[in-house]
Amino acid sequence: MNPQPAVLETATLPIELLPFNSVCLMSNHTVKACLRTVEQGYRPAECTTQTARVPTRVRDLRDMRNNVPMTSASAFPRVSRRIGAIAESATLAVDAKAKALKAAGRPVVGFGAGEPDFPTPAYIVEVAKAACENPANHRYTPAAGLPEMKDAIVAKTLRDSGYAIDASQVLVTNGGKQAVYQAFATIVDPGDEVLLPAPYWTTYPEAVALAGGVSVEVVADETQNYLVSVEQLEAARTPKTKVLLFCSPSNPTGSVYSPEQVKAIGEWALEHGIWVIADEIYEHLLYDGATAPSMPVVVPELADRCIILNGVAKTYAMTGWRVGWMIGPKDVIKAATNLQSHLSSNVNNVAQRAAIAALNGDLTAVDEMKVAFDRRRKLMVSMLNEIPGVVCPTPQGAFYVYPSVKGLLGKEIRGKVCNTSTELAALILDEAEVAVVPGEAFGPSSYIRLSYALGDADLVEGVTRIQKLLSEAK
Ligand code: PMP
Repeated sequence: MNPQPAVLETATLPIELLPFNSVCLMSNHTVKACLRTVEQGYRPAECTTQTARVPTRVRDLRDMRNNVPMTSASAFPRVSRRIGAIAESATLAVDAKAKALKAAGRPVVGFGAGEPDFPTPAYIVEVAKAACENPANHRYTPAAGLPEMKDAIVAKTLRDSGYAIDASQVLVTNGGKQAVYQAFATIVDPGDEVLLPAPYWTTYPEAVALAGGVSVEVVADETQNYLVSVEQLEAARTPKTKVLLFCSPSNPTGSVYSPEQVKAIGEWALEHGIWVIADEIYEHLLYDGATAPSMPVVVPELADRCIILNGVAKTYAMTGWRVGWMIGPKDVIKAATNLQSHLSSNVNNVAQRAAIAALNGDLTAVDEMKVAFDRRRKLMVSMLNEIPGVVCPTPQGAFYVYPSVKGLLGKEIRGKVCNTSTELAALILDEAEVAVVPGEAFGPSSYIRLSYALGDADLVEGVTRIQKLLSEAK
């Protein structure tokens, strides 16, 4: 038997994908690959299927390519089913719509944005400017991240969370979002179940699905401050449960788990051998004296089955720089690094240099932002709670409020009856020219998310318009 050629992409296709008349359904790419491999004396997997029409000789393949009308163009979906199933990011879509309306001259107030409305601190920008001049930053660097960046993450993680890690446990990613995708891709196999406390950030279920996993929503409503209990998690657990997604402070609700709750959930995960992917991107945006301890610090034995996701976006007003990271057990980080080495390689060196300056600096910038966020948070919660039919818990973290609008659904507002929060969000945009994100983007309907990462005057103007509109409900 001839040795298998090193590059044989077709051999990895499952045979079921090539039915009886596979010769007609094969794409030109597949035919070319077959030709190449048969010419090399090797029969790829699909060429060994037990059908009379399967080609085994170079001539058959040539005939097939030249003489058989290829129906493939219409037989295949233009976009793969896997990618076609991904929904557009609802939060980015709302933000884009609000910006487009604004650009067209409409006085739209946008509460959709998931980013601080402050510029990146000047000392960070200065480091980036200098980094542009250094030819070392013009080159490829290690896929896992600049050594100085990984060291800065190690030091920052110890400083901020009390979590001692090694640089080999760190992978620098293109924003926290890439860390989310890579974390699920690295530990989830097709059919594995992922417990997803809902409301959840809109990207999680897409990342789970892309990995072939199954999201199992565990819903916590406003009466429990959107925080799931161990009992709820246990009720959702099955033999297929591999991972729990844990996000505190939370996007979209701003809720923060208490240290006792973090411990209870961590111990439950440990007891059942469940992995935890802990998203800590809002770790520094905490109010009212709340704390958000890192789960593997509270439950140290969990460290071998825990992946931490983080980034500079929210803490240092650096959403556009695209620098995040994942921390995990060495073997998992190595596997994720292999994936990233084929996907995007190293993160932009200039952005990494800026992020190093951010992490090695102090937290003055976020402390200043927090003063403004805290003031806006209180104002927004109290204004929203003045609206009959709206129930808005006071969040203790991030920069979102997440009111329930159950009391408004089914009622008439300016001649329209909204039965879902999507319909209500559309009405608010049409009638009040205010953009909010409907709860459906984060799981259950009947909620809206408003970001308070915008100027005080705009905030008051926008919520006043919402108050005026929704108070007309009858
Ligand atoms: N996790 C959560 C919970 C988020 O809200 C976001 C940004 N909206 C991210 C991760 C990703 O942040 P980025 O990719 O901008 O670093």
